[in-house]
Amino acid sequence: MTKNTEQWHRKLDERAAELESELRTAKADEAEAPTRTPHVQVPDTVDAAEERLRGALRSAEMDRDVAELRDIEAARERLRNGEFGTCVDCGVQIPAERLNAMPASARCVECQERYERTHPIEIRLPPAL
Ligand SMILES: [Zn+2]
Repeated sequence: MTKNTEQWHRKLDERAAELESELRTAKADEAEAPTRTPHVQVPDTVDAAEERLRGALRSAEMDRDVAELRDIEAARERLRNGEFGTCVDCGVQIPAERLNAMPASARCVECQERYERTHPIEIRLPPAL
């Protein structure tokens, strides 16, 4: 490992702070979104569809941020018990470049790709108004 535990903790803290501020911004946006006020008539259906899509993407993004925060918490746990930096699926050492880019990585690239194929991220569109 190229960095000591302390440095990884700091990196995870920084990433978590970034995600938390993104989530705060997204929640504020959502509160202001016109689709949240159903009494307002939206005459242009294109605008309405666009707003609906934006809302769905925003919530998909929030889901992803929340998932990454969970990954960070799991990575802290692995740091504490000395398992940080090894793939949770196959046990190989995760390359340092990958950990630098994504300190919460729990899997090597190969296992991550397989995981994403079997656990696709869904974007849920709300029903039409
Ligand atoms: Zn692996």
